[in-house]
Amino acid sequence: MHKLILCPRDPTDIPCDTIAMVANLAAIGLIRGDMHITDQSFEVGDNFPRLISFLGCFPVISSDASGNGQVTANLHRVSLSTVSDRIGFIVSDKQQAPRCPSCRQAVTAWEEAIDRWWADPAATDWTCSACEAQASLYILDWRQTAGFASVYLAIYPIHPAEAVPGERLLAELGKYTQSAWQYYYL
Ligand SMILES: [Zn+2]
Repeated sequence: MHKLILCPRDPTDIPCDTIAMVANLAAIGLIRGDMHITDQSFEVGDNFPRLISFLGCFPVISSDASGNGQVTANLHRVSLSTVSDRIGFIVSDKQQAPRCPSCRQAVTAWEEAIDRWWADPAATDWTCSACEAQASLYILDWRQTAGFASVYLAIYPIHPAEAVPGERLLAELGKYTQSAWQYYYL
């Protein structure tokens, strides 16, 4: 199932309090805090279509009789995942070669770099063969088809580029890491 993934841009930034973060997601209406499917998976809240911008029409929202746009038949779900023992490389089956954040050239030896990192989680150093810029694997431009995360939210089903998180949602999530969040698609 296709998913929109939201996670801290720097995967070493871990939310200080995930319980408070989930409570806040319920307070702003992304999820229904009183409607757990499981402990870590939630039905979406009434404000979901305002916090997530669908680029086409949103297929399963209907207005109630008062016309205030209540979500009545929404099949979307939000889950919170924690990668347990080390930072995870979360990758789409449509993953493309990443780009150098400095010169934008496609990174050719990225699979070798990932293999080194799997063998040694501290081996995040990377040097661009085109412009010699040095960067962390974590901040390569993975073209929204992959990324690294310790903790992430998944919203599904959402096809790649079907919807984007609004600035307000990214800002609310950023309060719990004091840093920026990013998104990509599986
Ligand atoms: Zn470069």
